[in-house]
Amino acid sequence: MTSALHLNAVVLPGSEPTDLWIVDGVVTHEPVAGAETLVTGAFVLPGLVDAHCHIGLGVEGGVDDDTARAQAAADVAVGVMLVRDCGVPRDTRFLAEERNAPRIVHAGRHVARSRRYIRHAAAEVEPEGLVEEVRRQARAGDGWVKLVGDWIDRSVGDLAPSFPAEVVREAIAVAHDEGARVTAHCFGEQSVAEIIEAGVDCIEHGTGLDDEHIAMMAERQVALVPTLINLANFPVYAQQGAAKFPRYSAHMLDLHARRHETIGKAVEAGVPVYSGTDAGTVIKHGRTIDEIEELARVGGVEFALGAASWRARTWLGADNLSEGASADLVVYADDPRRDLSTLHRPTHRILRGVLLTDD
Ligand SMILES: [Zn+2]
Repeated sequence: MTSALHLNAVVLPGSEPTDLWIVDGVVTHEPVAGAETLVTGAFVLPGLVDAHCHIGLGVEGGVDDDTARAQAAADVAVGVMLVRDCGVPRDTRFLAEERNAPRIVHAGRHVARSRRYIRHAAAEVEPEGLVEEVRRQARAGDGWVKLVGDWIDRSVGDLAPSFPAEVVREAIAVAHDEGARVTAHCFGEQSVAEIIEAGVDCIEHGTGLDDEHIAMMAERQVALVPTLINLANFPVYAQQGAAKFPRYSAHMLDLHARRHETIGKAVEAGVPVYSGTDAGTVIKHGRTIDEIEELARVGGVEFALGAASWRARTWLGADNLSEGASADLVVYADDPRRDLSTLHRPTHRILRGVLLTDD
């Protein structure tokens, strides 16, 4: 047994200071004799969440164990303690045993159309193989399947849905039968519309959302993880395709130009929006605070903090420092609601009840 810790702090989203104790990895609100007082008058966030992250993925596909460890540590360093993996080509479950790695909700491999995604990243199938592949990935993951809903189709020179809508509908139903939720990468208008209508549970990026489908998401409480810091790269993707695929390039620039408006409308409509960085290939690990700052631009500071902490944790089935919950939390001297830059200066990070150090 490790020695018990005591904290006196405002636990967000609350506003009154409370006392909590940490013993044997879990939180209790009952005083523990002999506990060491770590802080008084502090502010605590339930461990941050990266709801779209790829620990174990690099630009060349799956990375080795040490690289995956370093990616995980970079996320933990900024206070991320829960990750929804959004597809990796290798098994990263060894990280569950490691001190400096967040909890990970695994999604198996991305499921993409053959030759229509980043090379070496996805399980690639043709439409006739989609349903079986989704079933396989549903069984491999922790309750999530990741579909690549659209990508550039070189034969049309623009974004296009990866799979026919009817096959996607059947695949989503199979995932649900297997007890898994389905999320889909969607940049353009057509794929996001078809996939929402097909009963998906979550949308990644969502730049092609129109008012009608935003309303549908709000009504069905379909989640949205926009990954705003990745959307900021659309001009780079547009530039890469400009010479050979001018339609695609112009399309990406248009989606980029209206991204804050589109995501802002979803927030306004009551779509549950969560913080995700898309770290893994283009985006480096450890950028969650940048994403929170971007989310604050579209929905305000309290919204952005909830999207990266307590609301996202509830969505993913994690506790928020209730009695007996795993002690996964970040401590700050000041209230991050007053100044988001406080997030860059945690005084303590505690994961599974263990006080982390930077070494
Ligand atoms: Zn991703």
